[in-house]
Amino acid sequence: MVTLPEAKLYINGVVRKAAGNKTYDTISPWTGEVIGKAADASPADVEEAIATARRAFDETDWSTNHQLRHGLLTKLRDLLVANRQRLSDIALHEIGAALGFIPMAQVDGAVQGFSTLLEVFKTVKWEEDRGRIEFYGMKTDRITVHEAVGVVGAITPWNVPLYVNIAKVASGLLAGCTVILKPAPNTPSMATIMGELAAEAGFPAGVFSVISSKDPVVAGEMLVTDPRVDLITFTGSTGVGKRIMEKGGSTLKRVFLELGGKSANIVLDDTPDFAQVVGRSALATCSHAGQGCAIPTRLLVPQSRYAEAVAAIEQSYTANASAWGDPKQPTHVMGPLISKAQLDRVMGYIELGKKEGARLLAGGKARPDKGGGFFVEPTCFVDVKNSMRIAQEEIFGPVMVVIPFKDDEDAIRIANESDYGLAGMVTSGDKARATRIARRIRAGNISVNGGIMITPDMPFGGYKRSGIGREWGREGIEEYMETKVIATGA
Ligand code: NAD
Repeated sequence: MVTLPEAKLYINGVVRKAAGNKTYDTISPWTGEVIGKAADASPADVEEAIATARRAFDETDWSTNHQLRHGLLTKLRDLLVANRQRLSDIALHEIGAALGFIPMAQVDGAVQGFSTLLEVFKTVKWEEDRGRIEFYGMKTDRITVHEAVGVVGAITPWNVPLYVNIAKVASGLLAGCTVILKPAPNTPSMATIMGELAAEAGFPAGVFSVISSKDPVVAGEMLVTDPRVDLITFTGSTGVGKRIMEKGGSTLKRVFLELGGKSANIVLDDTPDFAQVVGRSALATCSHAGQGCAIPTRLLVPQSRYAEAVAAIEQSYTANASAWGDPKQPTHVMGPLISKAQLDRVMGYIELGKKEGARLLAGGKARPDKGGGFFVEPTCFVDVKNSMRIAQEEIFGPVMVVIPFKDDEDAIRIANESDYGLAGMVTSGDKARATRIARRIRAGNISVNGGIMITPDMPFGGYKRSGIGREWGREGIEEYMETKVIATGA
């Protein structure tokens, strides 16, 4: 049995245990067994992290010394690269990522994103000359100055923790903020290893802290309600995002939210290799057992080719029925769900789909026989109406729903009839037609004809209840900055 190293806090420049040496067990999603221990931060630990972050922002040159920050963050990136094996072990054992998913967002894609942010940093404008104006008969020379917001509380989820941690921590620190990172209780190690490596890189005390804790709420709410924290950057569920907005309101702090999704994948009737494209779409929804916010889990296919689409999907599920769930198989991209709670939630939706009258085409069962962990079969419902809850609510498991549409207008209507607006896909033999549809979908990132819609040099984020703000790229760094005008009488 594998045991991961103990996940420790990183506060005021020190890697250490929680007050009173309190720890909690972390669980392997593959087996349901204890896989390691993590520090269980007390309110006193969180208080110290906030106080030192505030001091480091107010009393040191961290926010203004761009070269220092870029140099130290480059060191941190290099240390992450050098520790790839440790990161991969955490991804596999603590997060339950299949080996085939580790080179993607789980480890290598995340670290590559860090390198991209280091490059993007060089394009940030810190100051701009906005020229002279004569107003009310007075001449004034103006500049805008772009500077860090202040102390950031970064609250992250369990599905792709390194990727989300890097997006928030690297962007916030590059902007000149000081950052306190609070990971999800199930997956502390991708955060705590960043703390350890920041200490090794020689980060000044207090500019970056990591607090893991068993309770999902207490540490997060302390960050959200504390007046010394200027900005909360949160990735997680829409329900918790709403609560954070409400609670953050009392101190009017900036709140930047990356939330859930139920993205549509529209395959048009003129798509070349229609059956193959539809079959592949089905498999894509199983990546990381469907635990990805931007996975297009609503497949929209033309009524005129519906029977053909359903046959291709069924064939795809049958052909790949056993190609998942083996922790030693490098070609697998799907492992277990993160926890028993998530397994119960996904199984609840599968039962709901049956009750709502959708037809279960593939999968539908929990599979503890795969190794004792939290496995659910790749699952697909067809004959789904967009009004059904399984078409409207985020399931966050390997469950795809298939909905027929009449024509382009109908496809756009169905895609947009959702509270969410995170991502989407359109495929057609006619690029102009697909692009016209993409322009009308109310979502932040859309792929046309297989284009990669999420890369670390470009902004990512949601419309509607999928979030507020943009992560990654120049826009992602600018989320952590304020704009000041300095106007000088001429
Ligand atoms: P979650 O909302 O349950 O928890 C996310 C984080 O918030 C965790 O660290 C948790 O401990 C913390 N938290 C919980 N209650 C809190 C509170 N009241 N105050 C402050 N913090 C609190 O989400 P999850 O289950 O960890 O992750 C899955 C969700 O994340 C899905 O909805 C998914 O769509 C979303 N997600 C979105 C993106 C994106 O970029 N849009 C990326 C990944 C995941």
